[in-house]
Amino acid sequence: MLTRQFTGYKTIHGPEQLHDPNQPSRPISSPADYRGWHAAMVTTKGVDPWDSNKKCTARINHGRWIADCIWCKGPILTRPDWGVAYCAECGARYHEGSVIFPANPRLFAEPLLLRVQRELQNWAEPQKLEALWDENKRLDVKTVDDILRENIADAIDIALVEPDGELTP
Ligand SMILES: [Zn+2]
Repeated sequence: MLTRQFTGYKTIHGPEQLHDPNQPSRPISSPADYRGWHAAMVTTKGVDPWDSNKKCTARINHGRWIADCIWCKGPILTRPDWGVAYCAECGARYHEGSVIFPANPRLFAEPLLLRVQRELQNWAEPQKLEALWDENKRLDVKTVDDILRENIADAIDIALVEPDGELTP
């Protein structure tokens, strides 16, 4: 029986999930876009964007990179390759270098991206990387090897049912 297999998610989400309030069809695709989005969001609330002189720390919540605003405690979307966080609640801007990420964010994303449910993709300091992999075992999350094996099994199934498949004797 051939079933469509889960092959893991490609990314932990971030501000690229937001859309330009003035052009809803246009996603936010750069830190400059994000900054423009932020200015538009806070200005409609009568707040001016301002630069935070304190840092905030990133975590992963439900498959999204989130930084908690040090000033208003609100959650802010961020992503390690942009390194910025702009708080739509109080107007604080955390520029590059002001959002603290783990030294290698990809390592922390990896075990989480194998979890089918986005709600289970969570990590925060001081949780260690090994603890995420241990959680995966407890949650019975497939490993990369499991997924590869299943995909190879599927490929063989396809080959056997297709008359011209290479593996058909
Ligand atoms: Zn804030």
